[in-house]
Amino acid sequence: MGEKSTLWNFEGDEHLNKASACTIRSFLTTVKENLNQNDDRPVIPLGHGDPSGFPSFRTAQVAEDAVVDAVRSAKFNSYSSSLGILDARRAIAEYLSDDHPYDISPKDVFVTVGARQAIDVLITVLARPGANILLPRPGYPLYEARAVFSHLEIRHFDLLPEKAWEVDLNGLEALADDKTVAMVLINPGNPCGNVYTHEHLQKIAETAKKLGFLIISDEAYGYLAFGSNPFVPMARFGSIVPVFTIGSLSKRWMVPGWRLGWILMSDPNGILQKHKITECVKSYIDISSDPSTITQGALPQILKRTTKSFHSKTLNLLREAADTCHAILKEIPCITYPSRPQGSMFLMVKLNLPLLKDINDDIEFCIKLAREESVIVLPGAAVGLKNWLRITFAVELSYLEDGLERIKAFTLRHTKTE
Ligand SMILES: *Cc1c(COP(=O)(O)O)cnc(C)c1O
Repeated sequence: MGEKSTLWNFEGDEHLNKASACTIRSFLTTVKENLNQNDDRPVIPLGHGDPSGFPSFRTAQVAEDAVVDAVRSAKFNSYSSSLGILDARRAIAEYLSDDHPYDISPKDVFVTVGARQAIDVLITVLARPGANILLPRPGYPLYEARAVFSHLEIRHFDLLPEKAWEVDLNGLEALADDKTVAMVLINPGNPCGNVYTHEHLQKIAETAKKLGFLIISDEAYGYLAFGSNPFVPMARFGSIVPVFTIGSLSKRWMVPGWRLGWILMSDPNGILQKHKITECVKSYIDISSDPSTITQGALPQILKRTTKSFHSKTLNLLREAADTCHAILKEIPCITYPSRPQGSMFLMVKLNLPLLKDINDDIEFCIKLAREESVIVLPGAAVGLKNWLRITFAVELSYLEDGLERIKAFTLRHTKTE
């Protein structure tokens, strides 16, 4: 190959670099590089989104059995059909219908390689030259990364900490124009732990209808609601505005490695169909990779046979963990704690930097915390809110208490004395 060949003139991809630099993983890597190898205490990880390694967060026995049975049956060794095997689509439709005004058809469900691929599919399909998408701040940075890579313009609307992280609807209206294709909502919330009321969701749907865009409702934490607001699926408002719901086994069953998620299309008025958006979604899924047939084969048993008591045990654990955070964090003067989490496995706290010496921002806070206390916390900058912190509380309770006490000791040590 000559020196002038296209390959030898590659100089990376600016969009790709920008996209990968803003992932949660890359922020956590920076923080972890600062751990002190000479600290004898265990590292307390409060930055992750995957509690599956902790004994209390082991998945349901029936789910494990379902996968073993699927393997042993030898029925699921073949390729999947591209939208997912019919029994899996039917099982997801039934699972979601329980909480729905009308029965969901398996035709409206597409099985994906986790919620991540669902995000990939929807962002890729909606990206058009000149189009923009409205993303929450704080939010889940994979949306930013995917949108940047697909050249889809990003506009951020705020979630309001003083209103339990509700969407700033006035701000949303001010951002939208006739190039806006969609807004993303994450409920229950990552990173805020919010669970939105029926009324708030309805207002969001009506706003989207008025402004003329669809809603992508990321419900990766669907049903992980342990506070006073029950979880309400956005799909209920599909008759107001078309909704794509993203769901997954990863979080409610604590098996992110099984890579099984889905997209539900709620469009009783046929708007997505009419504009050929459904067709595009199907075509893109056709040319992407399929989720493992084994987990799809196991899915009907997983969804039908997991007991209520498994789910309530998870919720009790998360509630107790959230209460522990509340009890300890509210005692720390340089941390403001706007509202108690009601769902998911995260909460956001704000740093009062003027009270701290030798710490200039959230990233420095997290780096020094890792170095001095062997505690990993995610800087708010990773989720779009500088000088805040995201704390994961889905860890063994004894670890959580230890980690929070170390955070407290650290902040006291770094507090300015008059
Ligand atoms: C974890 C997470 C995902 C990705 O879920 P997978 O099913 O593991 O791919 C998507 N959205 C949000 C908000 C998440 O927290």
